[in-house]
Amino acid sequence: TWGEICADLEKSIGKNNFVTWISPLKFDRLQDRVARFHVPTTFVGNWVERHFSDQILDHLTRVGVDVERLEFSVRSDKGRQTTARHAQPAPKPATAIGGDLPGAPLDGRFTFDSFVVGKPNELAHAAARRVAEAGPVTFNPLFLYGGVGLGKTHLMHAIAWELRESSPQLRVVYLSAEQFMYRFVQALRERDTIGFKELYRSVDVLMVDDVQFIAGKDSTQDEFFHTFNALVDQNKQIIISADRAPGEIKDLEDRIKSRLQCGLVVDLHPTDYELRLGILQQKVDLYRVQYPGLAISDGVLEFLAHRITTNVRVLEGALTRLFAFSSLVGREITLELAQDCLADILRSSERKVSVEDIQRKVSEHYNIRLADMLGPRRQRTLARPRQIAMYLAKKLTTSSLPDIGRRFGGRDHTTVMHAVKRVEELRSSDAQIAEDVEMLRRTLEG
Ligand code: ADP
Ligand code: MG
Repeated sequence: TWGEICADLEKSIGKNNFVTWISPLKFDRLQDRVARFHVPTTFVGNWVERHFSDQILDHLTRVGVDVERLEFSVRSDKGRQTTARHAQPAPKPATAIGGDLPGAPLDGRFTFDSFVVGKPNELAHAAARRVAEAGPVTFNPLFLYGGVGLGKTHLMHAIAWELRESSPQLRVVYLSAEQFMYRFVQALRERDTIGFKELYRSVDVLMVDDVQFIAGKDSTQDEFFHTFNALVDQNKQIIISADRAPGEIKDLEDRIKSRLQCGLVVDLHPTDYELRLGILQQKVDLYRVQYPGLAISDGVLEFLAHRITTNVRVLEGALTRLFAFSSLVGREITLELAQDCLADILRSSERKVSVEDIQRKVSEHYNIRLADMLGPRRQRTLARPRQIAMYLAKKLTTSSLPDIGRRFGGRDHTTVMHAVKRVEELRSSDAQIAEDVEMLRRTLEG
């Protein structure tokens, strides 16, 4: 029985771990070789899944239970409906929306409510909101792009949740480009491409995440292109995401690139300090609902927002780990504890690019002298590289606009701002510049 297994588990993982993580589990049932448990919060579920799955499976098998994997779900008790939305795990079936539609499940945490808006993502957020209003189609497709962990998937799920709530009759399908390909290949294998075509061409809203994935995959691209056109012709909303602008996706057919550019293209910029702090604060508020006792000082949050600049997922992971660690060892979360417990994360996000590196690399690339880049001359052969360097300094470092201005021979912050805007425009209108910037960014960050 589960009770006996618990006794064994307690021995193997220690009393502390057991009390914190295993005791809150309630064994629900075993079905199709899946052992299901109720957990009090998503957080506990995730933690147990990540750290104790193997041991639990091991103990279950040892006493002869035929089980292949574990599943944890939050029991929804009615009194706490308000927080349930955040606390719910991802709804399980792939048919989460639209009956038997071929979409991927949505993550219950990815809603507009839980999306923190700041300067770097306000445009993307506004566009997503607009599309989620389900009025007449205004821009088609909506193309969201940006680096890893900046909230593309979150926004797409939020749109789907919103539409599902406001217009349950709409057939909304969300899936990754990889899943799209996988299903297409499956249809090919089963000689049912007609069924595939009919299925995807009959939806009302199609969202394809990480479309860069189909670059170089010719027949999938072809199918995607036709699906895309069929839906646009019927005036159905399409929402696409990618890790870069349409024009910058290599090995993507030109006809697809230009189709993708027809609607609204918005990018999610790297997070700034304020946005990171906002996201952390929101997370803390959520945790507080689950763990009223947990305390974390603003100082620690500021420290995290300052030091972990790469991607929001890492930032969230750091906070989760801090909470787990502090509740395990029963210690208050201090700066020292944070430094200890997050040493690896902090170290890996240290690989910072400096403004000097950028100036050096850019002047090398364009074969101009560093002194000229920093100097007063304004001829185009100098001004363009200078603008690109300023742009990269803004994007890749945490320096402020005035700070960057100062380091470029004492220029004004408005000059830097103008440069950033200009390069942004050029990136979508000038393929050469787009490529240069991308290349420079890669060598600097690599
Ligand atoms: P992407 O798809 O762009 O790689 P995700 O949408 O998966 O990124 O986001 C990574 C994680 O960061 C998710 O847990 C998401 O909820 C969180 N996140 C990103 N941006 C925000 C934001 N503005 N507010 C709240 N959470 C965010
Ligand atoms: Mg994503």
